[in-house]
Amino acid sequence: MVIRQNLRTPGPTPIPDDIVAALGSPMIDHRGPEFRDLIRKVTAQLKQVFMTRYDVLILTASGTGSLEAAIVNSLSPGDKVLMPTAGAFGDRFGDAAEAYGAQVQRLLVEWGTAIDPDIIRRALRADPEIKAVLITHNETSTGITHDLEAISSVVKGEFNKLLLVDAVSSLGCIPLPVDGWNCDLVGTASQKGFMIPPGLSFISVSPAAWEAQKTAAMPRFYFDLKAARQYLERGQTPWTPNVAAFYGLSAALDKLLVQGMESVFEHHADIGQFTREGVRDLGLDLLSQDEARASNTVTAVKIPASVDGPRLVKLMHDEEHVVLAGGQGKLAGKIFRIGHLGYVSREDIEEVLAALKRVLPRVGYSAF
Ligand code: PLP
Repeated sequence: MVIRQNLRTPGPTPIPDDIVAALGSPMIDHRGPEFRDLIRKVTAQLKQVFMTRYDVLILTASGTGSLEAAIVNSLSPGDKVLMPTAGAFGDRFGDAAEAYGAQVQRLLVEWGTAIDPDIIRRALRADPEIKAVLITHNETSTGITHDLEAISSVVKGEFNKLLLVDAVSSLGCIPLPVDGWNCDLVGTASQKGFMIPPGLSFISVSPAAWEAQKTAAMPRFYFDLKAARQYLERGQTPWTPNVAAFYGLSAALDKLLVQGMESVFEHHADIGQFTREGVRDLGLDLLSQDEARASNTVTAVKIPASVDGPRLVKLMHDEEHVVLAGGQGKLAGKIFRIGHLGYVSREDIEEVLAALKRVLPRVGYSAF
């Protein structure tokens, strides 16, 4: 049994006690009337969170399942896709498309900076054969939220290409009006803003995406969205769903919608700013100085040269019971990350900052 921790990875997040209780509700038949009522209820609520009047489908998979579903349901092998990326998750979205035979044109942007919509404009202008753009809304590896609204106005408004969005660490925390920003396929996951365990992913599908699905020839079976939509009409999923996570989802959506999404977004903005200020007050530098594009779900902090980063993370974990995330890919050993999404309070972050203050001097930091 794990003792209670201040789990500050950028997902999975802690789970509120009432949602933990809901997760343990008695099992039901996933082909029966109780499940039918449940999936209809949560689907209607998810549409409110996605701010879409079109389809939202629930897949039993982690977030990557929804991203894979977005790719295989809209593209064919050989299709050209544009992938602007400034981090590990941006890269991975393109890797998935490549695995299914897409020709991925990567626009590599410095990690820790925001993607300039103009580079997308130039690339789309240069190659009219590009069919789709893959974009990660919130780059969890660097703590940057890309300007999806501006990117969409280029991709959809100027060029009318398919827009596939990885919203795994943003949706439900940071505003992402799916219809308002004209996004075609948007995938996210249960263990992030939704305060429930890993195991479900959610994907919105626009009319243009359904149109693309008709001719998309990438192989698919488990993640066939057409099958998911047909089964949803009768209140089911094609395959056995994670019923327990559905119970949690239902309780979580009630909570989010009672609070109101505007208030949920404000809460994340407040906590994000509080975290960044607290880190700076300790004399530490953020990976990015771009306050306008700083993520309100995760903060990336540079590890000073004098500090033993792995020992810092270990002491925070073992002695302070604060679980931080390290850096990924080329940022491994250079940063640590503090997650502040989903179920998080100012007190949780105060605890992190106080623990850092105690541990930093023990791992080579001399600025206090
Ligand atoms: N995309 C982003 C932006 C993420 O933050 C993550 C997970 O942290 C993923 C994709 C992968 O999601 P999962 O591990 O749920 O498959």
